[in-house]
Amino acid sequence: MKIHEYQAKKVLADFGIPVPRSVLAANADEAAKAYTELGSSLAVVKAQIHAGGRGKGGGVKLVRSAEEAKEAATAIMSKPLVTHQTGPEGQPVRKLLVEEGTDIDRELYAAVVLDRAIGLPVLMASAEGGVEIEEVAARSPEKILKEAFDPLRGLSGFQARRLGFALGFDKAALKAAVPLFQNLCQAFLAKDCSIAEINPLVVTKDSQVIALDAKINFDSNALFRHPDVRELRDRDEEDPREAAATEHGLSWVSLDGNIGCMVNGAGLAMATMDSIQSHGGTPANFLDVGGGATVDQVREAFKLILKDPNVKAILVNIFGGIAKCDVIADGVLQAAREVELNVPLVVRLEGTNVELGRKKLAESDLNLVTAAIMDEAAEKVVQLAGGQQG
Ligand code: GDP
Ligand code: MN
Repeated sequence: MKIHEYQAKKVLADFGIPVPRSVLAANADEAAKAYTELGSSLAVVKAQIHAGGRGKGGGVKLVRSAEEAKEAATAIMSKPLVTHQTGPEGQPVRKLLVEEGTDIDRELYAAVVLDRAIGLPVLMASAEGGVEIEEVAARSPEKILKEAFDPLRGLSGFQARRLGFALGFDKAALKAAVPLFQNLCQAFLAKDCSIAEINPLVVTKDSQVIALDAKINFDSNALFRHPDVRELRDRDEEDPREAAATEHGLSWVSLDGNIGCMVNGAGLAMATMDSIQSHGGTPANFLDVGGGATVDQVREAFKLILKDPNVKAILVNIFGGIAKCDVIADGVLQAAREVELNVPLVVRLEGTNVELGRKKLAESDLNLVTAAIMDEAAEKVVQLAGGQQG
């Protein structure tokens, strides 16, 4: 689960990490008021969306008066913000963070993630922070320093100091950076984060070390034990179909193709998407309806798929393991009728009672195509969706 920068900074501040003073604003007038309230001659107006790259996309503006703050806010909120992380349609900006300006000497990078290869959390840091850390990682990976740490003990003092020396901190900055690094690791562990990133982590001209930007993602599987974190969810920023899917126990990921997929089991869903691709088609979504595949779930799944205007055909590929194929066939037929399906439907069933299931499909008056094996099903659905895509 993602949260906004202003929320992430609050989490970091709760763990003792210095962040600039700031005021949240919902419109241009509030941004002007926030500037005055902060009383700092230089301030920064920052778009709050669940995506990075805002600086380069025009979502971060330095201002020197209440009037300028108002203008910057108006400009940022006038249209969806497009960054390399939002996609070409951009993301509407509903909130702004107005922050006191910082006298930046150096911009560094620090982040805690889980390193799956070694099975430990790792604090990564680089002297080359700022806006293009992905480029640094690709071009000169040796400039990303790493300290793996014990999840029970946290980051040791010597590890924090080693990192601070390697980053070239002077004595005063080092004194500030050591607890900051340890606290960042502590926040990551205590809140079950999947990433806790500060970019840029800045050193000011007077050797203060401050988190100028913050990005925190939480492990969704751990949200049950963090009611305070659940409160931070902003549904406006989420794909409405992914959110609706979660409510019905479906795992959904929106994609940009034209073939709707309804599959049970994540592995089979992946294989189905591969099969579609290998026949030159493109999936419109990943969808795992789960082992049971009840009528309710199948109906909701159809509804979700049909909300996408790009969908030209649907492929149902279900393995009757727990649920029997004849029951699934009934469910698919009933759900297809209820949602008044208006695109071609290809159904492939396999598993327990498959003969009975296929018979039910064959005898139905619904206009559907059946297939015995996955490859055949994929080929047929690609044809029905209009053939191979680019
Ligand atoms: P991102 O582009 O979405 O990662 O947004 P950031 O919050 O990281 O801001 C992008 C850049 O704006 C930073 O790397 C800084 O160079 C600049 N910036 C942000 N806040 C300030 C500030 O208070 N003062 C100055 N001078 N620059 C800032
Ligand atoms: Mn940033």
